Amino acid sequence: MPRIYIDGQPFDASLDQTVMQVADANGVYIPRLCWHPKLSIAGNCRLCVVQVEGRSWVEISCNMPVSEDLKVLTDTELVRAHRKATLQFLTLNHPVDCGVCDKAGECTLQDYHVAYNGDASVSAEPKVTATKFYNLSSRITLDNERCVLCTRCVRFTHEVSKSHALGVLGRGDHSVIRPSDAAGAKPLEQDAYSDNIVDLCPVGALLSRDFLYKDRVWYLKTTPSVCPGCERGCNIDIWHRKPEWALRALDARHNTAIARVTPRDNPQVNGPWVCNKARDLGKLLERPRAHAPMQKGREVTLEQALAAARSLIDRARHPVALVSSWASNEELQAFKGALGERFTCFVKADHSPVEGEVVQDDLLIRADKNPNRRGANALFGDAAPAFAPDTDLVLVWGEGADFGRLPRGVPVILLNGFLAPENGHADVFFPISVLTERRGHFTNFEGVTSAFEACFKPAAGTAHAQDVFEALAHAEVSAP
Ligand code: SF4
Ligand code: SF4
Repeated sequence: MPRIYIDGQPFDASLDQTVMQVADANGVYIPRLCWHPKLSIAGNCRLCVVQVEGRSWVEISCNMPVSEDLKVLTDTELVRAHRKATLQFLTLNHPVDCGVCDKAGECTLQDYHVAYNGDASVSAEPKVTATKFYNLSSRITLDNERCVLCTRCVRFTHEVSKSHALGVLGRGDHSVIRPSDAAGAKPLEQDAYSDNIVDLCPVGALLSRDFLYKDRVWYLKTTPSVCPGCERGCNIDIWHRKPEWALRALDARHNTAIARVTPRDNPQVNGPWVCNKARDLGKLLERPRAHAPMQKGREVTLEQALAAARSLIDRARHPVALVSSWASNEELQAFKGALGERFTCFVKADHSPVEGEVVQDDLLIRADKNPNRRGANALFGDAAPAFAPDTDLVLVWGEGADFGRLPRGVPVILLNGFLAPENGHADVFFPISVLTERRGHFTNFEGVTSAFEACFKPAAGTAHAQDVFEALAHAEVSAP
């Protein structure tokens, strides 16, 4: 195992590592724009230069293999001068429209300019202009003037998502990122992972059209969560308004809305990527909500609904429960503890693939569109739902049940977070909290358990399913 020295500090390395990787692994920061740990080395931004002791030139650390006793310096006068000149070059034609750029507050170029350059542009020439708002797809727009041609986006579509959707067109300061016309290339529109390039772009060149001009990142906070879009259970960060920056004048729904979703790196589950379904979580969870308990379509209090449901359960001799595969391990355990002995339980799919969606692929997307099938199966088995002829009560937890297939004339207790026609048809209906309003764990198809936290308070009139089950089994509970 070779030992190398970075700024005089000894580090053990392996021969397949680069100096950049050793530095990263040991907490030594070397600036970079084009290098990314999960992409091939491009070596084009020239910002990660270091100086080997005894040499009078700089070299890029992202492509420098380690060797025994290698001694590199990351902060010499020569390195500083080179970085400063590189930043001058990178901003030569940059529009410096940071004030209106979505990337402001998290732009690497802005941070590097302050840290390593600090001076105004030395250029007296007019800037070379390029396309603003070139729509690469219905989801992503490109500002070519801000692009530093790091090619992270190009490499992602070639190496990770494999759509080969993007390429570099032109030469010199007329180079632009454009859809690729190479054989086998797919349009970015058809790339189920396209939004990762917005995260990858180190500057404000690639912009999410959904997020564009809607927020400033410093008004937002992140809450760790899990994408419920399939049984992969990708770890995500949900971005939402900080309470101290709550809007009072404009639409108050902004305060409890998902502003954007980004991947949370978990090497055991999703690495640093998610598919576009996770980005659209807001659209899924911000559908119209159910706000009132009901008995056969008539609004009642929670206490009345609990009393009616308890009476149905007490009278039933052969009740069946269709358990949610979108429920957390904690909720599933609560149901089992409270009512699991009374009911014959089956795990149902709350969601199934919808038209146009990628059903399964080799990267992340799984065909089972339910995040906790494995956790639910561990408690309730994996038999397909079936109703014996003497079934005399059905409890349906969550979405996805085909009410046309429930035994005719048998009373139904339904728990659902969203408005649906079935809610009014159930004998007793409970509106329940949704993913962003509760905390818990999902176990993915490989047995990896991931935690999610609550972003918002439960919507008015809703209860946590867990509390409903405990109230049905024991004492009553009031709405949160
Ligand atoms: S658009 Fe962004 S990620 Fe793509 S090459 Fe330009 S700067 Fe890099
Ligand atoms: S692969 Fe599945 S869990 Fe991951 S982001 Fe896509 S839908 Fe969500």
